[in-house]
Amino acid sequence: MKEREPDLITLLGKILADTPRLENAVCLGRSDLFDPARDYEPMPAVSHRHQLAAALCAGCPALVQCGTWAATERPSASVIAGRVPTSQRRRRPSVHKEAS
Ligand code: SF4
Repeated sequence: MKEREPDLITLLGKILADTPRLENAVCLGRSDLFDPARDYEPMPAVSHRHQLAAALCAGCPALVQCGTWAATERPSASVIAGRVPTSQRRRRPSVHKEAS
């Protein structure tokens, strides 16, 4: 007999059960700084906002707990626990050549 897949709520509950609750995290509401590079965002701009995010992490009361959790996760394209991603994965803009 085939095993039944969990419903969405059950699945989300299992995912969130492994995610720590980081009290007083200063990144709350600041995804604009922490998120991966956006399509067409110039790399100097990405680097600048990621450096600002890392500076926020340095003063975050949840830094130790966040770093412990992040060490168990795969590398991210976001800033987590003060770690700035070393490479950015994003779609490359398509190149359209005009007919001459
Ligand atoms: S250390 Fe950085 S990523 Fe982690 S909770 Fe604090 S601000 Fe957010």
